[in-house]
Amino acid sequence: MTSPDLNAGCFGAFFAKRRSTANGTSVQSFSRVTANSQTRTIAYENAANPKSAGEKKSISNFSPFCDYSSGKQKDWWLLEQEPLPSYSLKADDTNELTRNDIGNLIDHTLDKYDAQLRVLSLRIHDHPETMFEENFAHDLLTNFMAKQGFKVTKHYLGLQTAWRAEYSQGSGGRVIGINSEMDALKGLGHACGHNLIAISGVGVAIALKAALQARREVSAKIVLLGTPAEESGGGKVILLERGGYEGMDACMMCHPTVGIAHSTSIGSTNAMQAISVQYFGHSAHAGNAPWEGTNALDAAFLAYSSISMLRQQMKPDHRLHGIVEGKDWLPNVIPDYSKMRWIARAPTSEEVEVLVKRVVDCLRAAAIATGCEIDVKLDVAYFDLHQNSALAQYYTDIVGNRYGLLTLQDGSSASTDFGNVSYAFPALHPAFAIPTVPNGGNHTPGFAKASRTREAHNATMTVVRGLSLTGYRVLTDDEFFCKVKATFEHPKGA
Ligand SMILES: [Zn+2]
Ligand SMILES: [Zn+2]
Repeated sequence: MTSPDLNAGCFGAFFAKRRSTANGTSVQSFSRVTANSQTRTIAYENAANPKSAGEKKSISNFSPFCDYSSGKQKDWWLLEQEPLPSYSLKADDTNELTRNDIGNLIDHTLDKYDAQLRVLSLRIHDHPETMFEENFAHDLLTNFMAKQGFKVTKHYLGLQTAWRAEYSQGSGGRVIGINSEMDALKGLGHACGHNLIAISGVGVAIALKAALQARREVSAKIVLLGTPAEESGGGKVILLERGGYEGMDACMMCHPTVGIAHSTSIGSTNAMQAISVQYFGHSAHAGNAPWEGTNALDAAFLAYSSISMLRQQMKPDHRLHGIVEGKDWLPNVIPDYSKMRWIARAPTSEEVEVLVKRVVDCLRAAAIATGCEIDVKLDVAYFDLHQNSALAQYYTDIVGNRYGLLTLQDGSSASTDFGNVSYAFPALHPAFAIPTVPNGGNHTPGFAKASRTREAHNATMTVVRGLSLTGYRVLTDDEFFCKVKATFEHPKGA
């Protein structure tokens, strides 16, 4: 076996050794040094090793030196931990909403719809659809909202899978916006829990409608938008540009993540810029006349290496990650085409801009070195998330006092197109913890499983209650709304 003393760095825990098989071909096996220095061997498929074909190759342990995942994993809420406590009104809760029974009405409404919302969530989870192809979710959710008495617009503003569901009471009054995301990740399914986000929007809209109907003297409007392509594609940015959010006084949504049990977070997220680059070369016979070729794959590899080196000179809270794509590649033909997709992230859009310039320099340098033609495109930009402090404070109070949730200020290095919405209107986007497995954070198979559990559903519904009460206050409390507006226009206080 290999010695654990070799390559003891973070990713140096991979060792390989080659052994000969009876027929003279070789099988590669990899051993990984785990947290307690035990080794595990993973047999990789090989024609000479038919026994291993189809075997499940699981990597179950990661070095603790690499544990830089969302928050500290030791604090994560893990499946098989204690169940959610039942919530109850605290005796000292003096909030006006609970005094006038609207809070109880919202709770009662959501209890009544809980089973139906769970079915919607599981059906969306069972039909994962990627960006701009959320047709099943679009039809399921629009039909459901129409049955609840909302005025529904399908295929909203020219986007096949965007939709709008609206309920108005009286004339004039304030407009509260809510967003339901629906998209999944290619190959991973609902590994970001957008099935839970989809039903959270539906839940808030239904609860707010019931609350408004109990206060017929209030004029107000509820607008729920079904927003496609959050993982990439920027569905909300397109809807914003096309006027889909026009008239909203505030907008809200929520997102599941990992974290401490029964916690929610109102931190920011990173700004992000997606970049695509294509290299165009010239094909040639790789054995006969490679000097006649211009190698587009080499350009991609050079660019990848340059950007990997750039990471060393990057700030710790900046992120660069990308992939190489190609078509019709063969080992005996010099590839004449390659494509790369990169994402640059940083806490602010200004920092992203500087980072993107450095990335584009790396991309161009690779084109010069290989003699390829280059085409660089900047795709949709996501802004950092601005949580409106008045909305966040009220949400924190209500979920803490009424439902026993702990609110944290932790931000995320991920990004959301809701960041752009938060620049346009007072906005609230709490994250909330759902229980998962170790190394099962967002964008992993573990999180896909976690997002269909009963515990995840219950955690979502608690946040839905908090958002509903926050939305109700926006619609009905003039003084509170003035504070919301003031903190949007002067975020640092004035
Ligand atoms: Zn997500
Ligand atoms: Zn995601």
